[in-house]
Amino acid sequence: MAEILLKGIVKRFNELVAVDHVDLDISDKEFLVLLGPSGCGKTTTLRCISGLDVPEEGEIYIDGEDVTAKRASERDIAFVFQLYALYPHFTAYKNIAFPLVTQKQNKKKIKEEVKKAAELLKIEHILNKKPKELSGGDQQRVALGRAIVRRPKVFLLDEPIGTLDASFREEMRTELKRLHVDVGATTVYVTHDQVEAMSMGDRIAIMNLGALQQVGTPFEIYSKPNNLFVANFIGSPGMNFINCRAVRKNGKILLRLNEVNADIHIPEKIRKIIIDKREEDKDLVLGVRPENVIIGFKPEEDSVKTDIFTIEKMGSYNIIDVKLGSEIIRVRTLPTVVPGVKDKAYISFDMDMISLFNRENKQSLMRKTNAGGI
Ligand code: ATP
Repeated sequence: MAEILLKGIVKRFNELVAVDHVDLDISDKEFLVLLGPSGCGKTTTLRCISGLDVPEEGEIYIDGEDVTAKRASERDIAFVFQLYALYPHFTAYKNIAFPLVTQKQNKKKIKEEVKKAAELLKIEHILNKKPKELSGGDQQRVALGRAIVRRPKVFLLDEPIGTLDASFREEMRTELKRLHVDVGATTVYVTHDQVEAMSMGDRIAIMNLGALQQVGTPFEIYSKPNNLFVANFIGSPGMNFINCRAVRKNGKILLRLNEVNADIHIPEKIRKIIIDKREEDKDLVLGVRPENVIIGFKPEEDSVKTDIFTIEKMGSYNIIDVKLGSEIIRVRTLPTVVPGVKDKAYISFDMDMISLFNRENKQSLMRKTNAGGI
């Protein structure tokens, strides 16, 4: 069992607030990814969980026990960094065995544990090699092996595959996820790569400027972003943002797209949110993912006229950029949709899949929970 609970964690470096009142509840055996741009406080949060940094405010609990004042060595946690500092003069075997040697385990037990870890990581054949004879991927597998033999309750991984090249990274992503299932330790994984986060995390915690922006499953984060930061950070190609305003016409609330002065209908549930949250006549941003923009070549109800700008043929799909006034809207289509550049097109939106944000405070109107989602 290893549930991790962070309550109001604050960590400062002089004037800089690196971690700003972070609340996070990580379940036993969960794979939680801390995601955000460089410098947003991911590593510092991880170091606070590990005990390498001590927060100025807040508490950290592991399995209900307050460990805030405990040292790293007292927390039963294994930490794997991006720069896998292996001992260069030791073989892979000796590197993996090292934590058990320092624990003064007997030789038979050490041999057994190293063998098990090596089998799990499929590195039995390199155990006699020294780090300089190994590829980056294998060096990282050895570093993971060294963490696994300790059988910790918690794994903290800080960009562990960040230095590997793209094809290795993909391979290691799958391996790490499988390893998590096999080892069964609660895992907190830091990355700035949204693809890595989406493909690996049971849940993702997104940070910006030290503060948690949203915690949720990849689907929740992708389809219901809490704010413009999250909406913008997740997805490739990214979400389209269209300036708009909720206007009342003949007693009915419609969405006016500023650039083209066109009014489109909105579903009842969104109309209700606009009324409840008093967002009528305020500056809003309509957020719509490229796959939720529908493109056609004749006018339909609620479609707006655009000019085709460019077409990217991606093989399994196309990305068509259209111009809505001065805004570029990216549309994801089947690969068979190939209009001519400079053609006219009419776009509409899957209104069940849209997001609406207040342009001033950048928050989603659809947001139900606090940023922490707990
Ligand atoms: P990256 O992905 O670049 O590692 P990060 O999201 O992990 O970024 P942190 O390393 O946690 O971010 O850093 C958060 C902020 O705290 C940054 O502005 C960083 O410069 C600052 N910081 C981190 N450690 C220290 C330190 N020991 N002394 C002073 N400032 C620090």
